[in-house]
Amino acid sequence: MPAKLLEGKSVALKIKENIKLEIESLKNKYGAGPKLVSVQVGENPASEIYIKSQEKTARDLGITYELKKIDAGITQDEFIEIIDSLNKDKSTHGIIVQMPLPQHIDAKLISRYISSLKDIEAVHPENMGEIVFGKAKILPCTAAACMELLNSIDSLELYGKEAVVVGHSEIVGKPLALLLLNKFVTTTVCHIATGQRGTLPEFVKKAEILIVAVGKAGLVKGDWIKEGAIVIDVGINRVEGKIVGDVEFDKAFEKASYITPVPGGVGPLTVTILMRNVVEAFKQQQTK
Ligand code: NAP
Repeated sequence: MPAKLLEGKSVALKIKENIKLEIESLKNKYGAGPKLVSVQVGENPASEIYIKSQEKTARDLGITYELKKIDAGITQDEFIEIIDSLNKDKSTHGIIVQMPLPQHIDAKLISRYISSLKDIEAVHPENMGEIVFGKAKILPCTAAACMELLNSIDSLELYGKEAVVVGHSEIVGKPLALLLLNKFVTTTVCHIATGQRGTLPEFVKKAEILIVAVGKAGLVKGDWIKEGAIVIDVGINRVEGKIVGDVEFDKAFEKASYITPVPGGVGPLTVTILMRNVVEAFKQQQTK
């Protein structure tokens, strides 16, 4: 039987309604709501799309959004000073650094300088570490979006399920594997070495829940999908002017019970989770 579509938009709408209500009550309680500052170094057409979507979502929800544009010639030390001043600014509750940064600025180093309380992308080692302990309140957006998609399936009991995550990046695959483990999902993580060894199909075939976050169109073949599996395709690839995922959609659709479309699956949820993180950061800062 063909799969049901797991669409991010409807899940995002429900979360947005809750965020709106929460922001209203926070504004009543504290006299002001959350503010997100987005920092962009130099010009980058790819990040413009994300910035516009973040700005619109924030405004719709009642979050103040400020875009700080910085000249690409800034030194790393000067950039760290800007981050530090935002850390100290009491009216800024969330900081997002738009990627990519110019090559002379080390993105991983910068993530350590953002206050962990304002790190709404959860890239600071402290926020990453909280995931290990199952205590994180600010979660990496894409990984959390995948969990929300799974939670949206009413009949799904995660406890004891077998999941395979393909891709072990720090922003998606690794935190996602931990979030699944925290729900007692038996989780296997596949990566480049699995691909090189040629055993990726074996792992994928066992997955009751399959989440693919690699960035290679058609990497996962439709006939590898286990009958009835839940498939979340995080990948975004441009092929002949079209956006496609990492999974061969048409064939996988015939075997899966649920599958995300690309585009329209994980993507619409990611920015919503970012805004939820801003609200969480705001709340945490009211008690510090
Ligand atoms: P990334 O940092 O490039 O990570 C890709 C991962 O895939 C790496 O862990 C890599 O391993 C692994 N990999 C590469 N080739 C493989 C193979 N043949 N078999 C198994 N694993 C392989 O990318 P990312 O930031 O995690 O993003 C992954 C994809 O998701 C991209 O297409 C990105 O555009 C998309 N994405 C979508 C959203 C959304 O909101 N929908 C958000 C974020 C990312 P090594 O590092 O060891 O090479």
